[in-house]
Amino acid sequence: MSLEDHVEELASDLDVDKEEVRRDLENLVEYSVPMDEAKQSLRRKYGGDSGGSGGTPSSKAIGEVTTDDSNVTVTAVVLTSGRRSIQYNGEQHVIREGQLADESGTISYTAWDGFEGDLEPGQTVRFGNAGVREWDGRPELNLGQSTDAEVVDETLDVDADVGGESALADLEPGDRGITVEVRVIECEEKVIDGRDGETTILSGVLGDESGRLPFTDWEPHDTIEEGASVRIEETFVREFRGAPSVNVSEFSTVTPLSEPVSVTEDAPRMRIREAVESGGQFDVELVGNVIEIRDGSGLIERCPDCGRVVQNGQCRTHGAVEGEDDLRTKAILDDGTATVTVILDDELTERVYGGDLEDAREHARDAMDKEVVADRIAERVVGHEYVVRGSLSVDEYGANLNATEFAEADDDPAARASNFLKGVDA
Ligand SMILES: [Zn+2]
Repeated sequence: MSLEDHVEELASDLDVDKEEVRRDLENLVEYSVPMDEAKQSLRRKYGGDSGGSGGTPSSKAIGEVTTDDSNVTVTAVVLTSGRRSIQYNGEQHVIREGQLADESGTISYTAWDGFEGDLEPGQTVRFGNAGVREWDGRPELNLGQSTDAEVVDETLDVDADVGGESALADLEPGDRGITVEVRVIECEEKVIDGRDGETTILSGVLGDESGRLPFTDWEPHDTIEEGASVRIEETFVREFRGAPSVNVSEFSTVTPLSEPVSVTEDAPRMRIREAVESGGQFDVELVGNVIEIRDGSGLIERCPDCGRVVQNGQCRTHGAVEGEDDLRTKAILDDGTATVTVILDDELTERVYGGDLEDAREHARDAMDKEVVADRIAERVVGHEYVVRGSLSVDEYGANLNATEFAEADDDPAARASNFLKGVDA
C-alpha cells in the first residue's frame, strides 16, 4: 500500500479531512515511526479504535525472526531498556529502546508510546503481536499499542548480560540502555543550534580500563567534569566519524564514584585492514612501514580564516588569501594488509623533519624551493617502520589517521616479533 492508500483508508475510517491526515501521517513517517504505529497513533488522535491486526501471529524463537515476518510473538528476557525523547506531530514522545534475548539469540526493540508493558531488565516477558521492521538489514521488534506484554515466571538460559553494564571497548553504535563506569578525561561546554534554538551541551572523552571514547551530554549534568569518576546509567551509543560515541541524555543518571576509575594508557593495536574495515577507531595503534610522503606535506600554507590548506594563494572557501605557514606531514603507512594516510600535526612534523617552522622557512629560502622540506621528511621516514597511535576516520576522503604518537618501531628483532604477535592477537 502506498502512503496515499493509507491516507485514503484513515480519512474514510475516521471521517476526517484527507489533507490533515496526510500531513500527520507524513510527519510521523518522516520520524521513522513505522506505518502500523503511525496509523494507530492517528486513530487515537482522531478518536477511532486502534484497528484490528487480523490474525494471531505465530510464536517464534528470536533467532528465527526474519525481516519477512510482519508480526510475531516471542518470549524473551529484557536485557536493556533506555528512554529517548523524540518529537513528532509537534509533540514530545518518550520511546523505549533496548535488547531482548532468548536461548536462540538477541534482537533490538523499540517500544512506542502506546505500549503499556513492563520493560524491566532481567524480567522474562511474553510479547504477543510484536511488529517486525528491518533496520540496517536486520530484524527489529516494534512494540506498540497492539502488542500485549505479560511477565512470565520462566527462566531462560540466555547467553547475554542483563542490565547493559559495559566496558567502553565493547560498545557498538546502536546500543541502548547502557551503563558505564568511567573517568572524564576531557570535557568542554559547547553551544549548538538545537531544535529549540541555542542550547549548551558537553562534549569530551571518557576512559576506562578497556579504552577511550568520545561523549556528548545533551542535557549537561554538573557531575560530569574533567577528572571526575562517574557511573552513567541509561546512555545510548551513536556513530561519530565511524567510531562509537557515548550519548548522555535527560534520562541518564550520573553518580559520582568514590573510587577513581583507572584508565588504560594503551590503545588497542590492530592490523590496518581490520581497523579500516571497522569503519573507524577513536583511539588505535597501528604498526607499519611508511612507503610514501604525499603531496601537501612539509612547509604548507593555511587560510587565516578557516585553517584549510591554501594552494597557489587560493582558499577553496575564501578565495585569494595571505596564507600562514605551517608544518604538516601526510605519510602512507602499509602493514601488508592495507594502507592508511597518517597525518602528523606541526609538533610531530617538527620531530620527523628535525627542525621547527623557522628552520623550514630558512631551508626553503636557501633552496628557493618549498619542496625541500617534504623531501627531507621523506628521506628520513620512508622505508622505516613506525608505531602510530591516533584517531582513525574512514569516509569519502579515504582512511585517515590523525596521529597523537608517531615513533620508530624498535629495531630489536625480539621486540618486533612480540609486537607482531601482539598485533595478531588484538
Ligand atoms: Zn579559508
